[in-house]
Amino acid sequence: MSLLVVGSVAFDGIETPFGKVERTLGGAASYFALAASHFTPVRVVGIVGEDFSPTDEAPLRRRHIDLEGVERANGKTFFWAGRYSQNMNERTTLTTELNVFAEFRPTLPRSYCDSAYIFLGNIDPTLQRSVVDQVTCKPKVIGLDTMNYWIERTPAELRETLERTQILMINDDETRQLTGEHNLMRAAKHVFNMGPRTLVIKRGEHGALMVHNKFLFSVPAFPLEEVHDPTGAGDSFAGGFMGYLAGAGKVNEATLRNAMVYGSVMGSFAVERFGVERLTTVTKPEIRKRAHLFSKLTSFQL
Ligand code: AMP
Repeated sequence: MSLLVVGSVAFDGIETPFGKVERTLGGAASYFALAASHFTPVRVVGIVGEDFSPTDEAPLRRRHIDLEGVERANGKTFFWAGRYSQNMNERTTLTTELNVFAEFRPTLPRSYCDSAYIFLGNIDPTLQRSVVDQVTCKPKVIGLDTMNYWIERTPAELRETLERTQILMINDDETRQLTGEHNLMRAAKHVFNMGPRTLVIKRGEHGALMVHNKFLFSVPAFPLEEVHDPTGAGDSFAGGFMGYLAGAGKVNEATLRNAMVYGSVMGSFAVERFGVERLTTVTKPEIRKRAHLFSKLTSFQL
């Protein structure tokens, strides 16, 4: 089933202890779409500038990602640059140039209006809601990501959008900030009162925790020997998660648990190389193999 994602398509400059790239394809929607494309057809709603060339979009096209909803505007593409500390636990944002992204008003092509699975990437909650409003068939699942900026500045708008969503995917700090509750289990109850019935808390190198009103599930991050670039790990997790669900075509406890595993699998591939590179080369057998390793990693008998 088709999965629609709205979010940033960007150029990133990245510096880690393993190297430096001045300008490479990035943005939350790019990581999400590439990760999800291994499970289901993906449609992107975003905006780029005149400087975004066919070569830049080639990695997305090679994965058969539908780019009809990516508007090309006059001006430059969103640019973000960041530098990681020696142990990669801290990231300093060096530059955020919104460029054409500042004027982004998502418009869905007619062919996108029947999307059954939707992921609202981290943008203004009012714009997130405008995407939902343009989908004419009732979507099966709407997932949402947000960040401190929107939780602080547009709380009322975010609440309105949350009422329309089923799965909230944020990190632990954002969960605490959104709910005003330090304890994550109690925070989840607040989230359930806002609309979503599933909360996925992304915890970076500590994996992810899913709190559903009927069950709990936790996955570790895959123990890799070398992490080259953590950029986009969370977006790749979200792509693997939503992509698996859309590919499965149904949402129940079993598919939600597997979605957590495939989210973690795709997050782990993303960080193995710089930028989106590994998400473009990883194969289905490699994905399956790593999912099996997760199953071994976490299996025990009582
Ligand atoms: P993450 O590592 O999950 O924080 O995602 C990094 C990606 O988010 C990069 O590819 C950036 O281009 C993109 N990004 C950075 N800042 C923003 C922002 N304010 N809004 C949307 N996307 C952003």
